[in-house]
Amino acid sequence: MGDTNYQALEFAYERPAELGRDDLAHHPVIVVGAGPVGLTSALDLARQGIPVLVLDDDFRLSTGSRAICFAKRTLDIWDRLDVGQRMVDKGVSWNVGKIFFRDEEIWRFDLLPDAGHRRPAFINLQQYYVEGYLQEAAAAHPNITLRWKHRVSGITQDETGATVTIETPDGSYRLRTDYLVACDGARSPIRKTLGVESHGRSFRDRFLIADIRMAADFPSERWFWFDPPFHPNQSVLLHRQPDNVWRVDFQLGWDADPVEEVKPERVLPRLRAVFGDTAEFTLEWVSIYTFSCLRMDDFRHGRILFAGDSAHGVSPFGARGANSGVQDAENLAWKLALVLRGHAPDALLDTYASEREYAADENLLNSTRATDFITPKSPVSKTFRNTVLRLAKTHDFARALVNSGRLSVPATLHGSPLNTPDTDAFAAGLVPGAVALDAPVTHAGTPDWLLHHLGDAFTLLVAGDAPALGTLTLPEGVTLRRVHIHPAGAAPASTVAATHLADSEGHVARRYAMQPGTVYLLRPDQHVAARWLNPTPQAVHAALARAVGLPADPMPDAASPRPADAQPAVKLAAETDATAHAAIAQAHANGRANPPATPPAPVRTTLGLAAPDDFYEALIDAHRDLAPEQSEGLNAALALLLANHIGDLDVIRDALARARAVALTA
Ligand SMILES: Cc1cc2nc3c(=O)[nH]c(=O)nc-3n(C[C@H](O)[C@H](O)[C@H](O)COP(=O)(O)OP(=O)(O)OC[C@H]3O[C@@H](n4cnc5c(N)ncnc54)[C@H](O)[C@@H]3O)c2cc1C
Repeated sequence: MGDTNYQALEFAYERPAELGRDDLAHHPVIVVGAGPVGLTSALDLARQGIPVLVLDDDFRLSTGSRAICFAKRTLDIWDRLDVGQRMVDKGVSWNVGKIFFRDEEIWRFDLLPDAGHRRPAFINLQQYYVEGYLQEAAAAHPNITLRWKHRVSGITQDETGATVTIETPDGSYRLRTDYLVACDGARSPIRKTLGVESHGRSFRDRFLIADIRMAADFPSERWFWFDPPFHPNQSVLLHRQPDNVWRVDFQLGWDADPVEEVKPERVLPRLRAVFGDTAEFTLEWVSIYTFSCLRMDDFRHGRILFAGDSAHGVSPFGARGANSGVQDAENLAWKLALVLRGHAPDALLDTYASEREYAADENLLNSTRATDFITPKSPVSKTFRNTVLRLAKTHDFARALVNSGRLSVPATLHGSPLNTPDTDAFAAGLVPGAVALDAPVTHAGTPDWLLHHLGDAFTLLVAGDAPALGTLTLPEGVTLRRVHIHPAGAAPASTVAATHLADSEGHVARRYAMQPGTVYLLRPDQHVAARWLNPTPQAVHAALARAVGLPADPMPDAASPRPADAQPAVKLAAETDATAHAAIAQAHANGRANPPATPPAPVRTTLGLAAPDDFYEALIDAHRDLAPEQSEGLNAALALLLANHIGDLDVIRDALARARAVALTA
């Protein structure tokens, strides 16, 4: 397996048994697309016990490296799916990034300065390895069927499911499914079939990617150059990949000719300018890319759920494409499993859409801002950008403004209708909607990791023995595991069936702001649904019900048996759909809408200067003998320094509005 050439792998087409049959074979879930998102979806659904059919129109893995940076959260998800270790073993781990402006290093950052994490901030790994490892895990899973050269060409849907038309080399056939997960990539034929478009911004810039094979001993770090001498007025990004492959991204500008620029006679001199004339390397993959930041308005269309690039697209700065798609996959899997089993209302799937649309908006905002910083679109934005870079060398605050791509972190799902808002006072820890953090623990005397014990099912993470928690009655079909955290050396006293972990280095207590009696309710995707100090069983029951999209009713009396004529959960779901929809819409609005308007603190317009004439003289003096562009730089630096000194964004916004109004009268 270690010698597999994943770039050359081809998967056999098999004639489907359904060809030529009149009856419609039924599959609970069909996943369209065997890219990183489709394969992760399939693995997570299969882990939840759901049989999955994966259809892909191709028979190979990703061409060229494409994505290379896979974030800690993605690794945590893949760890849960038992494929993380392979990725990490092969990948190049990194935490540190360096920023250069022209020929100087201006800043070095560490994305994971905190000790006590199993996984690094990122690994670099060619997308074909990622897909190859996921494909092998999927092919080995008894719940997953993979079909290559099966192109989905049409879908119709009704109240009970969708009918999918599939083209194969032997002709077309149709299948019936309860739900279809569309992971069919940025061009998404399924999106087009439905006639829905993504909306957003396209950027008029071109980038050249050159993956080269070269023996070099640069450290495993992300290096980003603004305006370097070897590629003036543009940016360059360097990443190390496994197998001595290096990724170099050159910003080229919109006028670059995409056909000419990929020719070796154009690419090689650019690379020699970076690495020197004597460097020895071979070209692995060369490509030109442009990008857009956009998303579908709604990730759910009836029985069809869009995930990954089909639902949203971002610029590569920040590595948010595949990473956010993998989070889509994990958000959807447990919800689909509960709904398919009739243990949660169909409306739970609306929260897949609302939560991941919210996350996509965060990604789009970050990605758009990074792109604007890296490729300034006007002379004045370039002046500010370069001034920030110059200030960053010596001024701490300006480093926070340097944006070479805010690297992918998981979204905190603020405002989700599945969250139970805090009722107890927490000074720190993880708010409802946040994703669980890892920490070293000891399990039965053996070193282990906390995340290893969270996920797949709802889990109560309990500080100490929590005697008040008592016995819980659960919503039908919902399982709840208990993980108790004890200070290192303390013995558990509780007799409740639970996993007992020792907080070997104290990181759990710190990261979760644990004190005796603290309880977190974690979802199967490891997001926090609720947290309390010494909760009652009723509070936990209500939060659990809410987290599966049911009404957060008080817990039924644990002593009284369930009535013999109790309706199955799926019926209950139908009755509560309207309520759930209303709650979701409200929470969606809360999450999205502007925060309640507070009157802006206006900038002071009465005299505040101690010595007006002295100030004026100092202002003019500072500009003495400067060329016009230096004066512009001074004004930009002054604005940045004073803004940082003021700090209050309302005051700064008010000042900017007044300054702009004055400028417009000129
Ligand atoms: C140059 C570059 C660098 C990038 N770097 C990063 C990075 O470092 N980190 C990161 O997170 N992201 C990165 N990305 C983005 C990342 O590659 C994508 O986000 C990721 O591939 C999306 O995965 P997906 O599964 O949604 O779609 P895809 O990978 O596009 O897979 C879609 C699948 O659907 C199949 N398909 C399409 N139509 C049909 C049909 N009708 N029927 C059946 N099957 C169909 C296709 O064959 C394909 O296998 C980068 C992208 C580029 C271009």
